[in-house]
Amino acid sequence: MTQYAIQTQELTREYSTLRALDRLSLEIPAGSIFGFLGSNGAGKTTTIHLLLGLLRPTAGQAAVLGYDVATEIDQIRRRTGALLDKAGLYARLGVQDNLEFYGRIWHMPRRERRARSEELLRQFGLWDRRKEPAGRLSFGMKRKLAVARALFHRPDLVFLDEPTAGLDPVSAESLRRSLVDLVAQEGVTVFLTTHNVPEAGKVCDQIGIIRSGQLLASGSPEELRASAGSNRIVVRGSGFTEEAFTLLALRPEVESAEMRGGTLHVWLVPGSSVAPIISLLAGFGVQMEEVVRETTFEDAFLSVLGAEGHAPETARVARVARGRFGAVRADEAFALSVPECESSHLSAGVA
Ligand code: ATP
Repeated sequence: MTQYAIQTQELTREYSTLRALDRLSLEIPAGSIFGFLGSNGAGKTTTIHLLLGLLRPTAGQAAVLGYDVATEIDQIRRRTGALLDKAGLYARLGVQDNLEFYGRIWHMPRRERRARSEELLRQFGLWDRRKEPAGRLSFGMKRKLAVARALFHRPDLVFLDEPTAGLDPVSAESLRRSLVDLVAQEGVTVFLTTHNVPEAGKVCDQIGIIRSGQLLASGSPEELRASAGSNRIVVRGSGFTEEAFTLLALRPEVESAEMRGGTLHVWLVPGSSVAPIISLLAGFGVQMEEVVRETTFEDAFLSVLGAEGHAPETARVARVARGRFGAVRADEAFALSVPECESSHLSAGVA
């Protein structure tokens, strides 16, 4: 197998006047989990369809598992699995029979079909339901069965278009865990799209962020986090007051602030210093036990999208503070003076 499961060069797709994918160049190493993130209409599904030969590119090239999508699509399809918008299950057929039927299409011998269906149904927690018609499964169970189906013939590469969409957090986590285990056991490359950004940060080795058909950033979640800088501070302590919180939200360094279970989270305007925030809190007598400056993968994702000039919804609510002190809008300006700070409180450990 080649070093890269997917390579694209300036891959472009237009629908009459709309450029749905704009010169996408990507290299996805074999055996990795790649997460393609972007808002609705960004071009994720179009990319998958181009890589599976379901759409023809307007320009550019792509190779999947070393095969050219323009001329070697049969070889590609034989070695890939896909979960697209339709689950592709037969409602009246039993759960295990659904998988085995699919195995017959792939000309797998009976004994191998049996063994593989048992292996996957156990992996996805569906073994006890194997005899029931697939139509009787819950939504989340159907989703798991559909992922198992996509992996059934041991493909080298699997495309999963929003595999955890609509699942409750526990089912989503269980599907994620099964997927990660399978990737580790079988070395399959996974190309997945998701709107669940924290999930992608946890599961994926590599991430691509796309908007309006253009790749804005790519790299490991850690690399993306590092390049975004640290615009969030988390303050643990006691003595937070409504007045301090209100004034904090009005500081020019603050984009937004939120109390989460007694911990203060402050998102700073990029490039701002944390010192005025600490001074303000100290001036109000807040006892700070720990002040940490950090960036989650979600922060990094928003910063990539925001930095390109189209701030997402969460960034547009800038300078609106929420939490147990309610919402405070910075534009409802009211002049309040910031109390003098006590320099002795400024030594709180800023990481
Ligand atoms: P979502 O997260 O909502 O699934 P996506 O990132 O998968 O979105 P695509 O489905 O790839 O987005 O769509 C990219 C753009 O191409 C959108 O503006 C969409 O309206 C447009 N598009 C997709 N299919 C067609 C089509 N058959 N004809 C015309 N435009 C299309």
